[in-house]
This record gives sequence, C-alpha cells and structure tokens, in this order.
Amino acid sequence: MPLSARIVRGLQDSGLELYAPRFAALSDADFLTMLMSDYARYGVVDVEDKQRLFRLLKALNEEVRNRSRGGGGQRAVTNELLDLDAHDGDLLAHACGPAMQLSPMQEVRAVAEAVEEPDTPADPPKIRVVVRKRPLNKKEKDKGEDDIVDANMQRAYVVVNEVKVKVDLTKYIDRHQFNFDDALDDSVSNEDVYNVTVKPLVHTLFANGKASCFAYGQTGSGKTYTMNPLPIRSAADIMQYLALPKYQHLNLYVSCFEIYGNKVFDLLNARKKLNILEDGKKRVVVVGLKEYNVASVEKLKSLINQGAGQRSTGSTGANADSSRSHSIMQFALKEGGEDGKLASKISFIDLAGSERGADTFDNDRQTRLEGAEINKSLLALKECIRALDSDARHVPFRGSKLTAVLRDSFVGATARTVMIANISPNSASVEHTLNTLRYADRVKELRKDKAQRDPGGVTPGEDPNYYAAVARADEEAEAVKKPSKPILRAGGGQRAGGPNKVTDSAANGGGRGSPGGSDEDEILSEHNKMLDTILEEEELLITAHRMHIEETMELVRSEMNLLTEVDQPGSAIDQYVNRLDKILKQKLEGVAMLQAKLERFKGHLQKEEMITTTMRPNKKR
Ligand code: ADP
Ligand code: MG
Repeated sequence: MPLSARIVRGLQDSGLELYAPRFAALSDADFLTMLMSDYARYGVVDVEDKQRLFRLLKALNEEVRNRSRGGGGQRAVTNELLDLDAHDGDLLAHACGPAMQLSPMQEVRAVAEAVEEPDTPADPPKIRVVVRKRPLNKKEKDKGEDDIVDANMQRAYVVVNEVKVKVDLTKYIDRHQFNFDDALDDSVSNEDVYNVTVKPLVHTLFANGKASCFAYGQTGSGKTYTMNPLPIRSAADIMQYLALPKYQHLNLYVSCFEIYGNKVFDLLNARKKLNILEDGKKRVVVVGLKEYNVASVEKLKSLINQGAGQRSTGSTGANADSSRSHSIMQFALKEGGEDGKLASKISFIDLAGSERGADTFDNDRQTRLEGAEINKSLLALKECIRALDSDARHVPFRGSKLTAVLRDSFVGATARTVMIANISPNSASVEHTLNTLRYADRVKELRKDKAQRDPGGVTPGEDPNYYAAVARADEEAEAVKKPSKPILRAGGGQRAGGPNKVTDSAANGGGRGSPGGSDEDEILSEHNKMLDTILEEEELLITAHRMHIEETMELVRSEMNLLTEVDQPGSAIDQYVNRLDKILKQKLEGVAMLQAKLERFKGHLQKEEMITTTMRPNKKR
C-alpha cells in the first residue's frame, strides 16, 4: 500500500519531495518506524535532509500517538531516538530488559495493618525451639562414622558426645547437653514434626496472628527435608478451617521467594528480581511479589513444586547453591481479594546453611560476600526472635534483608515463632552440630531466664532481672548492627563453658579452629567490617546508578525539547547555547559523581581482596 496522502504532504512540506518515489513501496507503518540507519537505503544521505526526515518522522509519530491515545489505536514507535514520552517510565524496561527495574518507589503499596487480638489460652508460646536429628546416611556409615548425638524425646534434651584427644593422645568424650522445648530423634516422621511445630500455629493464624517456622542448621542436616512437607501439610488443616462458615470471608494467598546474597527473587514468577522498599509507615514491602489465590491443596502442591524448581541450583548440585539462600514461603489470609485486608500470615523459612557464614575466606569474592550476608542475617534473626520473646521495644529488623522482609511476621502480641534446629548425627559434623545447638540455645535463652524467675509465665512486674535481660538483648542487637568482634571466632574457646555460658559472637564459623593471636583477630575484625561496608555500598551504588539513569533521561528529555524549540522560527540561539551548556555540565557532573562512588567501591573491593590474601595461608592450617 503506497504512503498515505498525509505523509506525502509531509514530505513535500519538509522539502523532501524528491525522495517520495523512493519511499513509494513502503507502507505507512514501515515508513514511520524507519531508523536513521535506514535512511541511506532510500538515498537520504545529505545531513540536512537526514535531519529534516528525522524531524518529520518524529512529528508524524507524535501525531499518530496523540490520535491513538484518544482513540485507543496502536502506537507507532520510533526506534532511532529514545522516545521518552512514548515509553513513560517503562523505557528502561524496554531498553534493558526485565533485569532492570526503574523507579520502584512509585510502586510501593501500603501493606495492610497488623491486626492484634488478645491471646487465647490455647495459644502456643511465643517461641518454641525444637531440635531434630537426622539419621546417619549411607555415606557416613560407609566411612565408619559414629552417631554421636542422643536425642531424649521424653525429657527434651540432646547430648553431643564429642571425641577429644589429650596431649598424651588418649581419647576422651566431652559431653554437651542442651535442653529444648522438644528434641526429636531420627525415628520421628515428618508428620510428627508437623504436629509439634506448625500445627499449633494454624490456630494462631485463625486468631489473626502472625506465625513463622524456621529451619536452621548446616547444609545436609535436613532443613529442606523437614521444611518441604510443612506448608502442604498445614494447608490441609487451613482448608478445613476455611471451610467453616465463620471463615468464609477469608482467602488463602501463597507467595514464595528467595533471598540470595542481598537480593530477593520471586520463586513463583520466573525468579524475577524484587525490590525491597519502605512504605510511608517505615514498613518493609517486597515490591511486586506475586501472590496466588489457593483454594485447594492440589493447586498448592503444584505451586510448591514450581517454587522448589526455581530455587537456586548450581552445576555442583542442588544443595551447593540452595545452601546459600534463604527460601521463604508465605501463606496470607486475606479478607476478600488479593488487595483485601491481611488478616494473618504464616511464613515457612528454609534458611541458608549455617556453616555458610564461614565462607569468608573462600576463593572468590562473591562467595565471601554471600557468606558475610548469611552470617549477618542469621545473627540478626536470632536477635529479632530474642527481642520478640522479651517484648523488647527495639527489635533489630534492619540488621539484614531477611529480618527486614520478615518484620511483619514478628510484630504484634500475637506473633508466634517455631525454630527447628536440624542437626547431623555424624562425628565429622560435630563442630557444626555444636554451633547449631548453641545458636538454638541462645534463641531461647532469654525465655529460660524468664521461666526461672517467673514460673507462672505472667508479666515480670518489677523484677529487675527481667529488665536486665531485655537490656542485654538490646545491647546484643546493637552489636549485630555494628559488629566489632570478629565474626569468625565461634569455633574454639567457647565450648568449655557449656551451652549456657556461651557468648557466641557469631552463629557460625564451625569447622575452623579458633584463630591464634590478637593480630589475627584484628585482621578478622577488619575484614568483617570491610565485608559489611561492601555489602552496604553495593546497594548504595546500584541505587545511585538507577538514579543517575533517571536523571540522564530527564536531561535527554530537556535536550529534545531544546532541539524542538531551536527549530522554531525566530528562536534565540543565545538561549539555546546557554541551556545546552547547562545540560551538558549537569551530565558531566552526574557521571563524575557516579564514577567517584564506583571508584570508592572498587577501592574497598581491592582492600578486601588484599586482606583475604593475607589470611588465606592460615586457612589450611
Ligand atoms: P539441608 O536442606 O539442610 O541441606 P536436606 O534436607 O537436603 O538438608 O537433607 C540432606 C539429605 O538427608 C537428603 O538426602 C535428605 O533426604 C536426607 N534427610 C534429611 N533428614 C532426614 C530424615 N529425618 N530422615 C531421612 N533422611 C533425611
Ligand atoms: Mg536445603
């Protein structure tokens, strides 16, 4: 179809009529979407003519767009110049693909208010800590490893029999006992685990409470084995409640995401990277997280499989990478539709392998940073749970991404948490097992204090011990924010005091003996600080980069306006020169600022690399 009369007239008006026959074979759409690089094909090589043609296309496209805005028709797009108006804020998404997300601020939706109701007598305690031992596996048996863990289910304690060697090479057993709310041995089924952990939380959910269930432990200790069946199993119970007339107004929504390093990915939406932002009320919102309405256990099963399939897996096998990420499945009960009021929520959290915090001196930087982030998040998590239990006013949610996004599962008088500490029974895992038990012990330690003081579990009244304990929790929370102690020093030294005297400066660090002199301590401390700085700066740099692009686009917009204006008859060239000068200066300043940030960041990366190199020979001691 030949060009329409409107376009032919446009060519004439622009003094381009001599090219008209060359365009004759084109349709209107082809003509309008022509790129500047195509001009030569139609004989338009003269610079002035190229500019004329460019301007004509721009004007025609604008006209088409205006018309289609009014009439809802198709948009014509010019590809040569980024047409900012046409793309609105989505331009970068078009230009750079889905990996790039722009202006997430605009997307923040306020989350529903937490609904708080008085406790009912049937409520589970605020925090329960349950330990689960897995059986020795074939590989461990083949290696002739011993089962060194005894779980006493009746009396709810575990004993770790650590084999030690004296100076004269005689062996002896160091016995470590830890008490928990429940101790589950390797004969216990997943159904039993459900009954003692999540089942009581379903009640919480229908009492408008928030609930969370964590699996903590080293890689291979059974976290995923333990966590995987829990959401589906609980859904069966939840559906029963939902079927009651009383709860007809509630709907179940499911979401699932993964925190890897300090990034968040939607596991039910092709691993889309999500942004975490604060809304107007300083609450953290995971922007754009996909939620599915689930009305049957079958539908939930398919979603869970989808989520599990999307979890990070590397070439070295599923556990290698999933052990470096926290995966979180959330069930929300809402009144009405997706945007309905949030009534309650339960989160199932399969934490990153607790030994990962000790990745700090691994060869590549990415692994080191991930290790530092995991360390930080597990420490912050412990402090949040402790603060929750003590009703402390200051809860250090901001300590990590993990705790920030779980904030709304912790707040409110009705929040309930179950921590499952998974442990391996084999002798080679003894350090990790002890570290896990110490961590779990610390989580519930504060409550134990309270129980001793106040057996009835009523309010502490004027008991000064209570307030001392709360203050201690707060202090430790502060210490998490500004780690002044070397994070890696968890291995040795602490064991002798027994579980209750442990002052763990970290959740992890297992396997590597305690570093020697204070020089080394200093280097470790410096390294930890550096990793923290890098993690923070990385985020700031990326945010600054995003903002820089937005500013650049704003400037390009001004430049385009400027060009349009200068083409108008009677435009003042002085004004054009001044404004262009200003725009170019602004551009240069923007680039210089971003570059300065980048250089500083690069400097810190280098410094971290240097510290690592200094430390590396010690690793293999
Ligand atoms: P993690 O998620 O902590 O890295 P997994 O859940 O993947 O560990 O468990 C490691 C291996 O041990 C898996 O093959 C799993 O099937 C097995 N396993 C874990 N716990 C148990 C258990 N209680 N009974 C039988 N096998 C288990
Ligand atoms: Mg796992």
